[in-house]
Amino acid sequence: MEFRDKIAVVTGASRGIGAATARAFAQQGGIVFANYPDHDADQHREMIHAWVSDAELDAERVIPIAADVSDAIRVQAMYAEIGDRCGRVDILINNAGINRDHTVIKMTDDEWRQVLAVNLDGTFFNCRAALPLLSDGGRIVNISSVVAHTGNMGVANYAASKAGILGLTKTLALELAGRNITVNAVCPGFVNTEMAQTVPPDILERLRQRVPLKRLADVEEVVACTLFLASAAASYVTGHSLNVNGGMHMM
Ligand code: NAP
Repeated sequence: MEFRDKIAVVTGASRGIGAATARAFAQQGGIVFANYPDHDADQHREMIHAWVSDAELDAERVIPIAADVSDAIRVQAMYAEIGDRCGRVDILINNAGINRDHTVIKMTDDEWRQVLAVNLDGTFFNCRAALPLLSDGGRIVNISSVVAHTGNMGVANYAASKAGILGLTKTLALELAGRNITVNAVCPGFVNTEMAQTVPPDILERLRQRVPLKRLADVEEVVACTLFLASAAASYVTGHSLNVNGGMHMM
């Protein structure tokens, strides 16, 4: 029970890596605020209730909470609610992310801005709003991507947002070191989630061949690394980006 009674916030926890991460915290004794976007609130809450029930978790350990992470005011309101309910946050996982792929020449202003707004602004807004509640010795883990290091065709907006997260991570690690709060990033490669399934099969197969380990990651392989950085075992790791991409960062 590594995270017994630790209070964690996981953004974008309705599905995918975020849901699996939030579930893992709750399974290891934590209390998790499972964030979802404001739109389609009923549907998002149902999605969260479904994974809570599938995992036979104590429903009181997982608290669904709405806020579009790209909306600074909504994010602020979310932490006000968390503060009222619990008074502190021990662990923040910035996981919410989107992609809107096009080559640069075809990329619209909206596609550029939406991805930067959710992935990079959202991470910044959550860090800033969480800080007054974050306990000394706390943890922030930001979910970046291998493309922050390598770039990739058609993902200039996404790669820029994920590279920006690494700069934010290192700066915040320096700013918070005095409070013994560590700030790290995880850089997954291709993970077997709905986001990966939006990639056409022929392109996905080519991508698989580019991975030195020749397969996509299981979600649990990413979750394990995130949990490590959030754990007591990682107490001397800060400002780090952990490659969880089957060796893709070397390609
Ligand atoms: P996913 O299945 O698409 O899930 C993304 C989650 O973020 C969903 O719950 C989504 O809610 C939520 N979200 C989107 N916009 C939001 C907003 N404005 N406010 C709050 N929540 C929002 O993605 P995933 O594959 O699990 O990816 C999770 C993270 O890992 C992302 O940051 C992604 O960039 C990163 N990553 C993924 C891969 C991969 O191969 N899957 C690789 C590298 C990095 P909805 O249900 O409404 O969409």
